Amino acid sequence: MDIARKTPGENTRAVHLPGPPVPEQQPLGTPVYRTAAFAFSSASEYASVLGDEKPGYTYSRIDNPTVDAFARAVAALEGVGLPSQPEAQAFASGMAAVSGVFLTFARAGAHVIASSAVYGGTYSFLRNVAARFDVQTDFVDITDLGAVRDALRPGTRIIYAETIANPTTAVADIPALADIAHDAGALLVVDSTLAPPVVCRPLEHGADLVLHSATKYIGGHSDVTGGVVTGRADLISQLRHVRVDTGGSLAPDEAFLLRRGLETLPVRVRRQCATAMVFAAALSRHPAVSRVDYPGLAVHPGHEVARRMFDSGPEGARFGAIVTITPRGGRESGMDFADRLTLAQMATSLGGTHTKVSHVASTTHRQLDSRALAAAGIDPGAVRFSIGLEDSEDLISDAYAALDSLDSD
Ligand code: PLP
Repeated sequence: MDIARKTPGENTRAVHLPGPPVPEQQPLGTPVYRTAAFAFSSASEYASVLGDEKPGYTYSRIDNPTVDAFARAVAALEGVGLPSQPEAQAFASGMAAVSGVFLTFARAGAHVIASSAVYGGTYSFLRNVAARFDVQTDFVDITDLGAVRDALRPGTRIIYAETIANPTTAVADIPALADIAHDAGALLVVDSTLAPPVVCRPLEHGADLVLHSATKYIGGHSDVTGGVVTGRADLISQLRHVRVDTGGSLAPDEAFLLRRGLETLPVRVRRQCATAMVFAAALSRHPAVSRVDYPGLAVHPGHEVARRMFDSGPEGARFGAIVTITPRGGRESGMDFADRLTLAQMATSLGGTHTKVSHVASTTHRQLDSRALAAAGIDPGAVRFSIGLEDSEDLISDAYAALDSLDSD
């Protein structure tokens, strides 16, 4: 073997290629740091970055610049009116964000008060996972502030609400819930997936942490999965440690898509909200419809709370873009209505460019029997619309044609 050779061999040369240039100018798009590991110039630099004594990156499960770019962007949008800038942590999915919050801020013996209309995955996590670690949850109607107060116990650590509940569209009174939580020494955590930061910024209303399934409006195109939690630096630092230890970190490619989604968030969501308003009002007038749940309608029980908390723009007030339509005739009629739509796509998820529908009792809430559906305020015939970017006239004629054909059978 030639141990003194001057020129490295072909394999060594192939692996040790020149690195990418470090540009003097800031890129306008977000660079994707698609790397699992980062290299150091000395052992002491390696040790101090790993020990959080020096800023930097070591390993992408721990931190990654593209993922941080996404998290910082969300923090900037959530913290517009706050005295100090919040921080954020990104996760591989909305459920990784939800579970990360409970694993960080609840411990054995802790008590949680959660909305009875909470997202099914969150319900299942609290019931089937957190309960095994002796975290007990009471599910209450979060719009009934008396019921929330009555559910408090000395060990209550978290009150957990959704800004707009899915599919009931119940609106949480965040300032009132924050007062109840803080008087009891608990945190108010708000899942604001259905009300992204151009509709509502819960931190400005007193919430301690706001989280999103970024899979929905933040990504906005039904092509990426992610989650994000924003709040005060001391809370987010604790959350980061748990994320690092549990491993639900977001991938750089996904972070790129989510960060890009944020740039069009106001344009998309503003239009989706305006279309949802027109759609909800038009569908309320159809004789085959028994109920329309949409916070923008003056008859909605959360309308006044929504007006106080939600943003408005030149197009009017924004009330989100989830509209739940219940046709007359119960469960069969709801399934039939969903089947007869031709433009709205029957698909999971929400918040994308396509309008999506699901018959609630047979899909997202299939685990609930009729009594549980009634307790959650969901009619067996309810059909949830996630309004997309199509023209409102087309969506209304699609729904009217489906309802008319139900009528004529
Ligand atoms: N929170 C809400 C309100 C949701 O609707 C969802 C998913 O539908 C989640 C959390 C979970 O998000 P993900 O599917 O990204 O894990």
